[in-house]
Amino acid sequence: MNDAVVPVLLYHSVSDSPQARADPWAVRVRDFREDMEQVVASGRRPLTAREFAGHLLREDPPADPVVLVTFDDGFADYLDVVTPIVADLGIVTTLFVTTGFIGEKGMLSRRGVQEVGASGTAEVGAHSVTHPHLDVVDGARCRDEIRRSKESLEDLLGEAVPSFAYPHGSHRAAVKAQVAAAGFATAHAVKNRLSHTSDDVLAIARFTVQGRSSRAEVAAVTRGAGRPIASRDQSMATRVFRVVRGVRHRIVGGQL
Ligand SMILES: [Zn+2]
Repeated sequence: MNDAVVPVLLYHSVSDSPQARADPWAVRVRDFREDMEQVVASGRRPLTAREFAGHLLREDPPADPVVLVTFDDGFADYLDVVTPIVADLGIVTTLFVTTGFIGEKGMLSRRGVQEVGASGTAEVGAHSVTHPHLDVVDGARCRDEIRRSKESLEDLLGEAVPSFAYPHGSHRAAVKAQVAAAGFATAHAVKNRLSHTSDDVLAIARFTVQGRSSRAEVAAVTRGAGRPIASRDQSMATRVFRVVRGVRHRIVGGQL
């Protein structure tokens, strides 16, 4: 199979007066709009995490070039600032929410998360409860962080939450196995590399846009250049997961 490059952009806060916890990842509003205009100009079709995972798991690559725009943590500016811009430009996104941060100062409220879920422009995914490095916490805590974030978002949204993002991008085989066991279909890592149509569905490569990133750099990544392509080696855990998941998909006609 010929692998196509898939840029996956990762943002946190989009604000002209970012709070301290968003530093150094907060991107200015004007810069973000310019990045999104480059997404449109790239001619790539935006997909949600769930949609991209569906292509990977079915081994049915998208027919046209695609791009993903993702957000971690659940900052309140997602609703006030990001939603109007992406809705205006017709870009679908994925927002990975840290459930323990919901309702904190500067973060989305429960109602805000529901609004994002109902907006039609975003998939809501999980990002743990308290945002630890999951590769260093003990197994029971890791399991709890992954499962409880899924359950509480599913309660809040009234629908399945199939996508996860590792806090800090931290993952290893045992963490990936916990994510699969919790029922997630896909998980996003960081890596600062370009993803592709044979990427590890449990460790999707993303490029972190920081406050200091240049527009030219982000535009190059959006076009599928400027960064190395993520490894094509998939771990044994992911290969087994793909087979099991694929069989289940064919048997029960599971939807992604
Ligand atoms: Zn995060």
